[in-house]
Amino acid sequence: MALDATHDPARRSWVDSANAAGCDFPIQNLPFGVFRREGEEPRGGVAIGEMILDLRAGLAAGLFEGAAREAAEAASGPALNPLMALGRGVARALRARLSELLWADGAERRRAQAAAGLLVPMREAELLLPARVGNFTDFMASIDHSGRLGAVARPESPLPPAFRYLPVAYNSRATTVVVSGAPVRRPLGIARREDKSVGFGPCAALDYELEFGVFVGPGNAMGEPLSMRQARERLWGYCLVNDWSARDIQRFEMAPLGPFLAKSLATSISPWVVTADALAPFACPARAIEPPPLPHLDSAENRESGGFDIALEAWLATPSLREPHRLTATNFRHMYWSFAQMLTHHASNGCKLETGDLLASGTTSGPEDHARACLAEINLTGPVTLPNGETRSYLEDGDEVIFRGRAEREGFVPIGFGECRARVLPAASWPQE
Ligand code: CA
Repeated sequence: MALDATHDPARRSWVDSANAAGCDFPIQNLPFGVFRREGEEPRGGVAIGEMILDLRAGLAAGLFEGAAREAAEAASGPALNPLMALGRGVARALRARLSELLWADGAERRRAQAAAGLLVPMREAELLLPARVGNFTDFMASIDHSGRLGAVARPESPLPPAFRYLPVAYNSRATTVVVSGAPVRRPLGIARREDKSVGFGPCAALDYELEFGVFVGPGNAMGEPLSMRQARERLWGYCLVNDWSARDIQRFEMAPLGPFLAKSLATSISPWVVTADALAPFACPARAIEPPPLPHLDSAENRESGGFDIALEAWLATPSLREPHRLTATNFRHMYWSFAQMLTHHASNGCKLETGDLLASGTTSGPEDHARACLAEINLTGPVTLPNGETRSYLEDGDEVIFRGRAEREGFVPIGFGECRARVLPAASWPQE
């Protein structure tokens, strides 16, 4: 992926908060999202520091032309799907224009500052789901996650038989993909209890899974596979994903067809979609895998730059521990399979992928103990003890799980993903009529 002026580390914004150290949304990031203010329609915007650039206001002020205008129009509705459908080139034109408009030393600064209502404080806006997600597929791309949990059940061969040959996945549920901030209700389900009886009731082992997700840009026609090159170009933008998991329900239900109700209760995502272009400086070689991938899942491009060096963290706050405690610190570069391989594999049988489909990596565990990216793995060495003395094997009602992600590389301005945060609500009572 080519680097251009939008990645220039010397470029600073006239929006002061975007230049603060540790800011997730400097002028080099420019992620897209959908927001709403009271009394207004939902619309597309771009995060810059603590503000949102309202693309509709930018259009009204005549700030965009050509492909940038086409992109801004496509992004000004209640979901980013029309923008994603135009592909990465058109979004890149808008990114270049936004960078000029927001640049402190740019020739367009005055025009941007004169545009009425262009910037909205993020704290005054409600951040919404960025896209209509038609389909959600959850992969299992981490060899450390698969191996650690597999070793409990099958110490002699921890990995599933196909793991080294293809990115294992299942079709999950798009209807329960929710945006950060939306609470998650503890699910009801059937599980085998400690006394060996089988019963129905509130999940007793609710877990988080720290994952990374990508939205598909242009899709493919049914029956038409995608090459690694084509797949890579269709990886439109990225977000944090919490694939909530009911471990007791999962253990009981999953043989032989895989998880069902244990995973479809809710999936939380961060509201800002960080584009593939914004992440270009943080690409790294895909992990060298053994045996080498089959030819259709291999490419020189993927070997050189199919991975991402992105630090991912999970934090926990409880009703009596307000200051969050870090549970997981991992990095996406540990993944065994890349997103280009996941998408190529997904479409290789002719399965139709659509714009706005969400692919998640699976739990992003790394090799270190602190890189275990769900409680099921952390629990292998016993429950977590929190700074206030509380312990956790699994999540309790009122607990809040917060994910953060940050890409850093020497010579570039670090960028972040914002938060993916949700609190656990008590289980529903069963309807009495
Ligand atoms: Ca998962």
